[in-house]
Amino acid sequence: MNTTYDVIISGAGPVGLFLACELALANCTVLVLEKAEDAQSPLKQMPFGIRGLSAPTIAALDRRGLLDQLEVPKRVKNPFGHVASAQAGHFAGIPFLHGDIDTSQWPQRLPHSLISELAELEAVLTRRALELGVAIQRGVAVSGATQDADGVAVTAGGQAFAGRWLVGCDGARSVVRKAGGFTFEGTEPEFTGYTLKADFADPDKLPPGRNVTANGMYFQSQPGYLAMQDFDGGAFHQTGEAVTLAHAQAVLRRISHTDVTISALHVASTWTDRARQATSYRNGRMLLAGDAAHIHSPLGGQGLNLGIGDAANLGWKLAATIRGDAPAGLLDTYHAERHPVGARVLDWSRAQVAVMRPTPEGRALRAIFEDLLKTRDGASYIAGRVWGIAELARDGELSGVRRAS
Ligand SMILES: Cc1cc2nc3c(=O)[nH]c(=O)nc-3n(C[C@H](O)[C@H](O)[C@H](O)COP(=O)(O)OP(=O)(O)OC[C@H]3O[C@@H](n4cnc5c(N)ncnc54)[C@H](O)[C@@H]3O)c2cc1C
Repeated sequence: MNTTYDVIISGAGPVGLFLACELALANCTVLVLEKAEDAQSPLKQMPFGIRGLSAPTIAALDRRGLLDQLEVPKRVKNPFGHVASAQAGHFAGIPFLHGDIDTSQWPQRLPHSLISELAELEAVLTRRALELGVAIQRGVAVSGATQDADGVAVTAGGQAFAGRWLVGCDGARSVVRKAGGFTFEGTEPEFTGYTLKADFADPDKLPPGRNVTANGMYFQSQPGYLAMQDFDGGAFHQTGEAVTLAHAQAVLRRISHTDVTISALHVASTWTDRARQATSYRNGRMLLAGDAAHIHSPLGGQGLNLGIGDAANLGWKLAATIRGDAPAGLLDTYHAERHPVGARVLDWSRAQVAVMRPTPEGRALRAIFEDLLKTRDGASYIAGRVWGIAELARDGELSGVRRAS
């Protein structure tokens, strides 16, 4: 343990990498420890790796000259292109259309939303982090951490590392969150979500696009690439069992009300709508950002954007604190500003679950939202929330003012 880094980051996901770049840009020494040896995963590549970028994320990437390095957003204009090119997004599976959204009051300098690929985003951020002198160690899982008044001691991969600060960007099951004694509160899941790549013996039985049924929802983005939600109270996901072909087929048949046959299952993962948030994003010299600080269902695509917003907010404040020129209390404004944004996103995901519930109440709510999303005001409100337009306004982007770094 010879080097003491200014900041150790647990997790080289998009949030940890973006934060590392922000800190290194401000001349902090940064070590990123990442559990996975290999950065590649089919779940990070198209089409599973599709991530919608919101307006604040687009602005944050643009501020650092990273937006132009992403090729996928230039190539893929609309993930629903082959189904309904006019679709701009969805709320609880109910589509809203580009033509219904009034963008006249919104900033026009940059796109309001873009499609990206997680694998490419991480590759671009890794390249930039390495250029800026960030040390990244892969295949080294953080297993514990302690702190005192001067710094943190981190155990990872059987080695000891020293830092002045530790930031947990290690995802939903964050070890830093547990080691730091953070309280993680929220609501329990109502469904198990599935991401599948499969071959079908009779593909014509499954209509493409998003389909909400009496038992849940399924979405076929391309032939064979499927997402579905089964309202089982999250029970299957919590068993931790692998998804077998027989299980996937049984769930799909029940949700789709078809007798479709899966002939081969290539990729399968599960997730839930559990929604929890750390009650504090800071405990002394340990901080949380991204999924480590908040989890919720991926409905409507918000988690990555929320995490990048955390990192953009935290980076310059932590760097100023390390330099010693931060005003008193600056670092605590990170929690004060970002916790309410996270709480709003958690509620946004809960509202969608309520609308999707396969109950008479859920169906009644869905009918109202279907009507609302066909109106200009309704579509504009929903799109504005999903694309983070209000947050952008708070950041000064509406007036073209950019925050100095
Ligand atoms: C199906 C699906 C679709 C989604 N679509 C969208 C979307 O359109 N828009 C959007 O904004 N969000 C979306 N999300 C959510 C988004 O992907 C996540 O919120 C985002 O990846 C969180 O980034 P992160 O860096 O905080 O965490 P992660 O991406 O989970 O990265 C955490 C990293 O930490 C590493 N790690 C874990 N434990 C340790 C340890 N002990 N030591 C060291 N490293 C560790 C992991 O290997 C990983 O690399 C979606 C999610 C899913 C599942």
